[in-house]
Amino acid sequence: MIRVTRKVEFSAAHFYHNPDFSPEENRRVFGKCNNPHGHGHNYVVEVTVAGEPDPATGMVLDLMELKEILQREVVDRMDHRHLNYEVPELAGKVPTCENIAALIWDLLEPRIRQGRLDRVRLYESPDLFADCTADAKADAAPRAPGGRA
Ligand SMILES: [Zn+2]
Repeated sequence: MIRVTRKVEFSAAHFYHNPDFSPEENRRVFGKCNNPHGHGHNYVVEVTVAGEPDPATGMVLDLMELKEILQREVVDRMDHRHLNYEVPELAGKVPTCENIAALIWDLLEPRIRQGRLDRVRLYESPDLFADCTADAKADAAPRAPGGRA
């Protein structure tokens, strides 16, 4: 199995706030990231797709199609947006690197038709990133009532 990765960048603003917390708790938990005026990041997304290269094309998937999917699902949706206010899928969630990576997984996974989505890595800055993988999504899935882990 081969993993192929495409990178895409977008710039967006956010701040951290949980309406269930008091103002003091929000300040304590989120620190300066709680400033309601927000602040910006230049995000970098690395999307990895795993599969066997097609013998005829030598490719795991059509990389032009992947580029179009990333443009449509990630860049058009998030670039130069305020993530707290302009991305409905993040409504009610704190727009952390972790939550945005999980959202990008959910947006891309149904659209990858050749190979399978293996990892979404989202850099919020050069020294901070979050990974979302199939294992992470499986762990987070709600379990059937009475089911066991
Ligand atoms: Zn931030």
